[in-house]
Amino acid sequence: MYKCILCKKELFKNYSEMLCDNCRTTIASYLRLEVIHKEKYRIYIIFFYEGEIKKLIRRFKFSEGTYLAKVFSIYLARAIIEAKLHCKNISYIPMYAKKKDVRGFDQSELLAKETSKRTGLEFQRIVTRGKRTKSLYRLNREERKKELLDAFKLNAFVDDVIIIDDIYTTGSTIHEVSKTLEGNNIRNYNFLVLA
Ligand SMILES: [Zn+2]
Repeated sequence: MYKCILCKKELFKNYSEMLCDNCRTTIASYLRLEVIHKEKYRIYIIFFYEGEIKKLIRRFKFSEGTYLAKVFSIYLARAIIEAKLHCKNISYIPMYAKKKDVRGFDQSELLAKETSKRTGLEFQRIVTRGKRTKSLYRLNREERKKELLDAFKLNAFVDDVIIIDDIYTTGSTIHEVSKTLEGNNIRNYNFLVLA
């Protein structure tokens, strides 16, 4: 028996979204589909980080990783097609290794893998993340910048790539990844952020 992941109502067919019609409408109401144009790349943001979406992302991060990644990847794949992001590779911004050990998975990695399956884009690990010494949210803007400096190292060279991230806040992490790619002559890349 299939159940809606939001309201747990029984589904009488296997919806690929795993959502009933009501909940699907709810989720659609949080669609943001905003594009932030930067000098060298664009950032596509799929959802507003609030309400039911915020709750779902929390569930995604803290317990139901693999399952919800499948659902979110539907919206990510759709955005790639609608935005006509012609590209061969898909990757993600990794979380700190220590954090991944505690959580057991990296949510952006799961999103990238599931979206890769849906779109046929090749999954790549383009960057690795260095060790972090301080918790970012306690730092001011300048300290944050310093802490992120050289945070990412190139792991695989690709001609083009879509990079998945889970939540957009200040954009400083994305900026750092961009610097690493530019420094390694990767010029064709864009970011796709869940919320
Ligand atoms: Zn439902």
